[in-house]
Amino acid sequence: MKPHRLTTVTAAIAIMIMTTTSDIGQTQTQEPGPFPPPKKEPAIVTPGKTNSDPPSDAVVLFDGKDLSKWRSANEGGGDAKWKVQDGYAEVVKGTGDIATKEEFGDCQLHIEWATPSEVKGEGQGRGNSGVFLMERYEVQVLDSYDNKTYYHGQAGAVYKQHAPLVNVSRKPGEWQTYDIIFKAPKFDEQGKVIERARVTVLHNGVLIQNNVEIYGNTYHDRPALYIAHGPRGSLKLQDHGNPIRYRNIWIRPL
Ligand code: MG
Repeated sequence: MKPHRLTTVTAAIAIMIMTTTSDIGQTQTQEPGPFPPPKKEPAIVTPGKTNSDPPSDAVVLFDGKDLSKWRSANEGGGDAKWKVQDGYAEVVKGTGDIATKEEFGDCQLHIEWATPSEVKGEGQGRGNSGVFLMERYEVQVLDSYDNKTYYHGQAGAVYKQHAPLVNVSRKPGEWQTYDIIFKAPKFDEQGKVIERARVTVLHNGVLIQNNVEIYGNTYHDRPALYIAHGPRGSLKLQDHGNPIRYRNIWIRPL
């Protein structure tokens, strides 16, 4: 009797699975639900030659030639004073941060950077710079190849808020990429944040920040805090005293 009962049970389970599977299939293909289909056809964008090259709708912020799209972020402004040579811009210690003349809100950003091939210093003192979205929210740039520091301060961290999911750093001196998708925060009329900023980061093509919430300005010496600002802000790159190189910077306002 036992084998017969088992067969019956097995057959019943098989029928259940088949029924469930076909139900799922029907739901996916025949019943899209109450959502109306999109009315607007997606715009046509010509992709770059490679996925690192700017697509046709990108704003090119630095193509290796000059820093004409940038200004000094110091009080008083003026020209960006970093060194441009051989297709890259390099931090000149003490000249200060640089920021884009144009301002952006929600965006997709591609940026390439390299820390010095000659390793000097350790922890936060080794190959430190940063990509500041809206001049306030830092995605850390650091030589994190075999260089210990606090986890939410290493390369790809949302500084002092979120450690990267993995450490996918290349060796000192090698070019690395960040592809960043950023959603700007929203504030009410009283200046209270009603929607925090969000960011997704791919480092060298690998996901390291998965749509995380940013808790506010990324300070190094005090807790994160939102201070209300407009819907757009400059992109800022940090002079942290180390000769970090940048190249191939483009952005797509979203
Ligand atoms: Mg930094």
